[in-house]
Amino acid sequence: MLGREQFVGKYRRKNRGSRVVLYAGGIALFICICLCIAVFLYLKREYRMVACREFSDQHVSAGEELGRQVLGLANDMRGGVRDIGGMTESNLEKRIRYFANAVVKREAFSHVFYVSYDGKYYADDSALVPENSDTIHEACKVFEELDYYQDGVYVGMMLPLIDPDVRRIMIVTRVYRNDKVRGYAVGIVDTDRLFDSPLFDYQKSRGKCFVVDSMGKIMSQTAALSGSHGDSFKEGVLEQCRDSEENRNALSGIKYALTKGESGYIMVKTLEGLDMQINFSPVRGVPELSYLCAYTPGFQDEMFRPMLFWSVLACIFIMVLMIICMLMVWANAKRINMTVEKLAYEDPVTKGKNLSYFKEFALERIMNSPEKEYAIYRFDISNFRYINESYGHIRADHILESCIRNFTQIFTDEEICVRMNSDQFLALVINDATLEKRKNEFRAAVNADSRGRNIKYPIRFKTGIYFVKKNDHDIDTMIDHANVARKSVSRDTKDLEATYSEKIVDNMRKIDRIESLMHKALTELEFKVYLQPKWDIVNDRVCGAEALVRWCRPDGTIIPPDSFIPIFENNGFVEQLDFYMLESVCSILKDTIAKGGSVHPVSVNQSRLLLHSPDYVDNVANIIKEYDISPELIELEITETVFENGREDMIRIVKELKKLGVRVSMDDFGSGYSSLNMLKDVPFDVIKIDREFFAGAADNAEAGVILRKIVDMVNELGRQVVCEGVENAGQVELLKNMGCSCVQGYFYSKPIPAPEFIERYFRS
Ligand code: C2E
Ligand code: MG
Ligand code: MG
Repeated sequence: MLGREQFVGKYRRKNRGSRVVLYAGGIALFICICLCIAVFLYLKREYRMVACREFSDQHVSAGEELGRQVLGLANDMRGGVRDIGGMTESNLEKRIRYFANAVVKREAFSHVFYVSYDGKYYADDSALVPENSDTIHEACKVFEELDYYQDGVYVGMMLPLIDPDVRRIMIVTRVYRNDKVRGYAVGIVDTDRLFDSPLFDYQKSRGKCFVVDSMGKIMSQTAALSGSHGDSFKEGVLEQCRDSEENRNALSGIKYALTKGESGYIMVKTLEGLDMQINFSPVRGVPELSYLCAYTPGFQDEMFRPMLFWSVLACIFIMVLMIICMLMVWANAKRINMTVEKLAYEDPVTKGKNLSYFKEFALERIMNSPEKEYAIYRFDISNFRYINESYGHIRADHILESCIRNFTQIFTDEEICVRMNSDQFLALVINDATLEKRKNEFRAAVNADSRGRNIKYPIRFKTGIYFVKKNDHDIDTMIDHANVARKSVSRDTKDLEATYSEKIVDNMRKIDRIESLMHKALTELEFKVYLQPKWDIVNDRVCGAEALVRWCRPDGTIIPPDSFIPIFENNGFVEQLDFYMLESVCSILKDTIAKGGSVHPVSVNQSRLLLHSPDYVDNVANIIKEYDISPELIELEITETVFENGREDMIRIVKELKKLGVRVSMDDFGSGYSSLNMLKDVPFDVIKIDREFFAGAADNAEAGVILRKIVDMVNELGRQVVCEGVENAGQVELLKNMGCSCVQGYFYSKPIPAPEFIERYFRS
C-alpha cells in the first residue's frame, strides 16, 4: 500500500508535459552556454598562443637580424683595417683617417678611431676625442683578456672606462704587423640606429624593443618602458608591473635562459591586471648583448578581439535562435498539454471539470492541507428525470451547468466540484464552521437560476457525505463511501442528506441481499397476497379487503412489506411487484367468482413509480380485461404524498383510472401534508384515514374534532371514508358516532393469506 507522500508524489508526477520540455530546454540552453563559454575560453587561449608564437617568431628573426647587423659591422671593420698593419708611421695617420671617415659615412658607426699598441691615438673627423686616449688604450688591453675576444674582434658594449653614460657599443679589431699586435681599430656604433631596419617594424608597432647587456642594463631601446627613468630593464618592468614573486621569478628566468644562450618569452602581470609578453633572445655573435621586446600589455587579446567578438556574437546568435526554438516548442507543448488536459479533464456539459480531474487532484488537496477537515459530497438532483422530461434536456443541462458555476463562485478555490455523469455530482468541501452557510447559498443560487429559466420544480439535492479521516488515502474508497451514504437517502425523507456510517453499510448490505434475491423470488412466487378485511361497522359485516404483500422465504420466514417495498421503490422493482399483486388479486377474484363465492372489492396498493410510467393506465386496463372481472371489484390505493409532486399529472391519471371503472382511494390521508385542495381537485372514491392520524384523534380531543370534520366533509362530498388501524371496540364506537361506516384493523382481522381470507369471508 502506498504511503501518503508517495501518493502525493504519484499525482504530482503526472501532468508535467510542458514542464519537461521547459526543463529539457533549460538544460540544453545551460549546456549551450557552458559550451559557448568553453569555446570562448579555448579560442582566447588558442589565439593567445598563436599571438605568442607569432611574436616569438618575429622576435627570433629580428634578433637574428640584430646579430647579423653587428657582425656585419665587425666584418666591415676587420676588412677595412687589414692593410693598416704594414703601413709606415707617416702613411698611417692619413690612411686611418681616410678609412675611418669612409666607414663612418657608409656604415652605422658614429665614430671610428685607431689606437696603437703603445697608446698613440688616431681618430676620424667627427673627432670623438676621449679626454684621455690612454683610457682607450687601456681598454683595448682589457679586451685582450676577455674570452670572447675572438678572431681579434671584440664586439661589445662601451666600457664604462670610456663613457659610462652613453649607450653605444664598440667593435674592436686587432691590427697586426708581422703577426704581432700593432694596435686596435675601434668603431663606436650608436645602438639606437640598430633598430632602423624594417625587420623591427613589427615589434615596434606592437611593443618596445631593447638591447640589454649582461647586467640587465638597457643599451638601446625604441621607447622607454612606461614610467621608467632608470636603465635597468628588470626594474623598469617591475615599475610597470606588480612587484610580485611571480613576476620577479619570471624576470629572473630570462637571465637564466640567456646565460644558456636560449631564447623564449615570459608573461608578467601589469598593474592594470593585463598580461604583458616579454620575448628575449641573445644577440648572435655578441654574447654580452640580449635583444628583448616588451609587447604592449593585453596586445595579444586586442589582436584577436575582432575574431573573438564575431565568434561570441555567432554563439549568442545561435543561443538566441535556440531560445526562440525552445520557447516555440514549449509554447506548442503547453498548448497541446492544455488541449489534452481539456479533453481529459473537462466535462462537456457543464464546462467544469470531470471525474478524472477530481480523482487526480482531490487527494492532492487533502494531503497538502492536513490541518483542514475535508468532506466528500456525492449528490444528485432529486427527480432530475422528471425535470429532463418536463422541461427538455437543454434547460435541464442549464441546471447542471448552474450547479458547477455556483459552486465555483460560492465555495473556495480549495474546494472542487465536478459532474460525474447525468445529474451525479462529486464535491470536495472543507468542513468548517461556514460550510452550512455555503451550502445554503449554493442551493439558493441554483434554485434562483432554475426559476430564472422558468423551471418551477424545486431543485433539491440528494447528498451522501463522507468525512475524510486522517489516514485516508484512497480517493475511490472515499467516493464510494459518500455514494453509499447517498444511496441510503430515502426519497420520502425531508432531509435529503446522509452521512456515511457503519449502520448505513449494514443497511446497504441488507439492501444488496434483497436486491440479489428479488427477481428469483418473483418468478418462484415467493411474494404472497395477504388480505385484510374492511369492515362495515353499521351492518357489522365485511365490505371489502386490502391486498398486502408478504415475502415468504423458502426457509419459512415471512418478510413484511416495510422491509422491502422502500428498496423496491428505489430500484424500480416495485412496478413489477405491483402489477404482479394486481394480477394475483384479479386472479383470486376470478377464481372465487368462478367457484361461486361472493366477493367484495379488493384494494391494491400502487406505488408512485407506477404513476410515473406512461403506459400505466393501459396496463391496468389490460390486466382487468385479461381476467375479465368487473372493474368495480378493483380499488387502487394511492398514497397521498404522491400528489405533492406533479399534481396535474396525478389528477389526470386518477381521472383516467376512474374512466376504466375501477375505484381509486387516497391512502394514508393525514400522514403527510394533506391538503383540502386535494379532496376538492382529485376525484377519489375512498379516503383512507391514516392509522397514526386516527390513533392521535382517539387520544386527543382537538385531533378528534378535526377527524370528525374530515369524516363529515368526505361523507358530504359523497365519498367513502375508511379508517385504518382500528384495534378495539371503543375505537369502533367512536368512529360509528363520527359517521364513519367502514374500518380496517386488527380488531377485525390482521392481514391473512388469501386462501384463508377467501375461506373466511368470500364464501357464498
Ligand atoms: P398500507 O397500505 O397503509 O397498509 C396498511 C398497513 O397497516 C398494513 O401493514 C396493515 O397490516 C397495517 N394495519 C392494518 N390494521 C392495523 C392495525 O389495527 N394495527 C396496526 N398496527 N397495523 C395495522 P403492512 O401490511 O405491513 O403494509 C405496510 C405498507 O406496505 C402498506 O401500508 C403499504 O403502503 C405497503 N404495501 C403493502 N403491500 C404492498 C404492495 O403490494 N404494493 C405496494 N406498493 N405497497 C404495499
Ligand atoms: Mg394501503
Ligand atoms: Mg394505509
